[in-house]
Amino acid sequence: MINTASPLSGENMIAGASTDEVSEKLPQPQIQNLPAAEKKMGIALVGLGRYSQKHLGPALTETVYCRLAGLVSGDAEKCDKWGVEYNLKEKNLYSYKNFDTIRSNRDIDIVYVAVPNALHAEFVIRAARAGKHVICEKPMATNLEDCHRMIDACREAGVKLSMGYRLHFDPFNQEMMRLGQNRVLGSINRIIAKNSFEVGDKNQWRLKPELSGGGPLMDIGIYCVQGALYTVGELPVAVRARFLSKTNPDKFRDVEEGIEWQMEFPEGIIATCDTSYSKNENLLRAETVSGWFELNPAFEYYGLKGQTSEGPVTLTSVNQQAAQMDDFALCIQNNGETRVPGEMGLRDLQILLAIYESARTQKRVELQLQEFQNLIEI
Ligand code: NAD
Repeated sequence: MINTASPLSGENMIAGASTDEVSEKLPQPQIQNLPAAEKKMGIALVGLGRYSQKHLGPALTETVYCRLAGLVSGDAEKCDKWGVEYNLKEKNLYSYKNFDTIRSNRDIDIVYVAVPNALHAEFVIRAARAGKHVICEKPMATNLEDCHRMIDACREAGVKLSMGYRLHFDPFNQEMMRLGQNRVLGSINRIIAKNSFEVGDKNQWRLKPELSGGGPLMDIGIYCVQGALYTVGELPVAVRARFLSKTNPDKFRDVEEGIEWQMEFPEGIIATCDTSYSKNENLLRAETVSGWFELNPAFEYYGLKGQTSEGPVTLTSVNQQAAQMDDFALCIQNNGETRVPGEMGLRDLQILLAIYESARTQKRVELQLQEFQNLIEI
């Protein structure tokens, strides 16, 4: 019998495979019925840039367990305008200077840090010391010392720290985790992951390493790293990398324009990845002994599309940011563990820095990530 709720429908099936065989081979993901929210947790956004404006603010109008309750910005005018738009109390609007007084504000439970990468540490630590739970945008920081300081500050303050890893809450990427980690189409031979876009304004912080920590690898290559890890379900043991030659040396004077790398996993699985600020690519693909499965696009906010050698992936999209923030609010309410803790941000930065080291030295760089063994999510 055709199971219409299956994430992999019977359309375009491989010759000879019946629908029954396919639905048996590809078990259903668990769909959770979430309880209704008793109290929505208050979130204050730090940094009212593009990501906050276009995605986090709007997502917070769709969340069930949390709501936009405050703003922290260096731009008082922008803050006031948002305050009116989102009907926020004036006392919940902060500048970077008076941000620490948020400690006494009972409307704010969670601080969401969405400023340039090198500033994450400062605001995460200040939020923790103010007794607030924290969500930190990716990449966690630009150096490992900052990651440790952020994790320590949250632990010492007894608050939870989560990464803004929206794709861990996206049904299409969760399907990659399920198909890959369960080896549903047999053992994996290789992973291909690509994430690139054409970066605009040459004066933006993304092209300044003191604020970004690096080029596209730090910004969007991180999704290729994560995609490979959560599809394989294991940690890489080594990386090899190479910077791509620059087509615009003026614009990309201080950061790489593009980089390609391989990650070696136990059992010989290789992930081949690349990222660039000068082209458009968006793919996560796994090739197995008996087939393949992929998302293309894989890492966008909307419009993800999945295909497998046995048919298309038919899932309903969600608002990724809303799902991510609701999950964290529930973790806090239930005193549970977030699936995307600060330690995962630290793990990913260790891998990114090893990729840079390999590209710089032109040598294979080994990774020691055993301590993160429990951070493969499904
Ligand atoms: P943006 O340039 O649009 O906004 C940055 C914000 O930080 C602005 O409000 C700016 O005023 C403020 N800021 C504070 N100090 C600054 C300084 N010294 N220099 C420059 N700006 C400063 O950037 P964005 O795209 O909103 O990115 C913000 C963070 O969100 C980054 O860490 C980025 O990696 C992350 N991000 C995540 C996603 C995602 O899908 N999870 C998507 C986009 C951005």
